[in-house]
Amino acid sequence: MAVHVNPPVFNENGDRQTGGFFPGIFVSSFDHKFICRNCHRILRDPVQSQCGHRFCRSCLEELLVNDAVVLCPACLEEQVEEHDVGQLSVHEVFPDNAVKREMFNTPACCIFPGCTWKGRFKEYETHERSCPFKQVACALCAQPVTDGHIEEHRRSECSERHVTCDHCGCTVIFSRLKAHLETCEKLPLTCEHCGKGNIARDTLKNHLEQHCPKRIVSCPMGCEDKFQQDMFASHLSLLMEPHLAWTVQKLVELEIAVGSTSAGSLPASSLTQVMGEIRKVEKKV
Ligand SMILES: [Zn+2]
Ligand SMILES: [Zn+2]
Ligand SMILES: [Zn+2]
Ligand SMILES: [Zn+2]
Ligand SMILES: [Zn+2]
Ligand SMILES: [Zn+2]
Ligand SMILES: [Zn+2]
Repeated sequence: MAVHVNPPVFNENGDRQTGGFFPGIFVSSFDHKFICRNCHRILRDPVQSQCGHRFCRSCLEELLVNDAVVLCPACLEEQVEEHDVGQLSVHEVFPDNAVKREMFNTPACCIFPGCTWKGRFKEYETHERSCPFKQVACALCAQPVTDGHIEEHRRSECSERHVTCDHCGCTVIFSRLKAHLETCEKLPLTCEHCGKGNIARDTLKNHLEQHCPKRIVSCPMGCEDKFQQDMFASHLSLLMEPHLAWTVQKLVELEIAVGSTSAGSLPASSLTQVMGEIRKVEKKV
């Protein structure tokens, strides 16, 4: 009987606890009675009901999980007379060791891609547990991964693995790293005004306000102009005369102020400041 289904995926801590074996493990045709009437896979730990139908033990337990007695799904499927429909109950099933023994010698193979194991069904279950080619669902991202590769997957491939942000050192889930970088305070950025790179996001504001040579400043020499900070020298040289005239005027105002106040400590310091600025201009010119 040819059954073509994708290979099963196990949960990460080993065995597929419920349901039967994948039918593809039987190399040749096999008796229909080896099939569970609930999951339609190869019986695992077979039990037989009063009505003669076989189920995996886990399948029966699953069927009876909410009710003490359940109508046999196989009887219903076969549309037997209403009064012949079997009732499933934990007390009226028995382990089917006869069919289990029959199954034991059936030639089997491993169905996981890449595995070449062949043997008898009796040994298959043990092989299945340790097969490195077995597909397991990653506990973090639920993707099927080869069992032998799960460690590597979790370390360097899983979209839900924890990674450390290179910039701020925070632990971030890989799939959210991109979103994290949108707001990471330590992400190095490039100033779009001056082109300076490697400025951490949380210092960019300070750069723009205090250090960027392209920031707009007001003329410290008192004219009304605003210009990029790195244009200060050319601003001064272009407008040298008005700046000098303004400086001289300031000086005169200060002299008046000094002359008209007895103490004059503040104007004196302002005077020093203006003199300093004149010297700066002279140097630049
Ligand atoms: Zn089953
Ligand atoms: Zn039945
Ligand atoms: Zn295998
Ligand atoms: Zn994963
Ligand atoms: Zn970060
Ligand atoms: Zn800048
Ligand atoms: Zn100016």
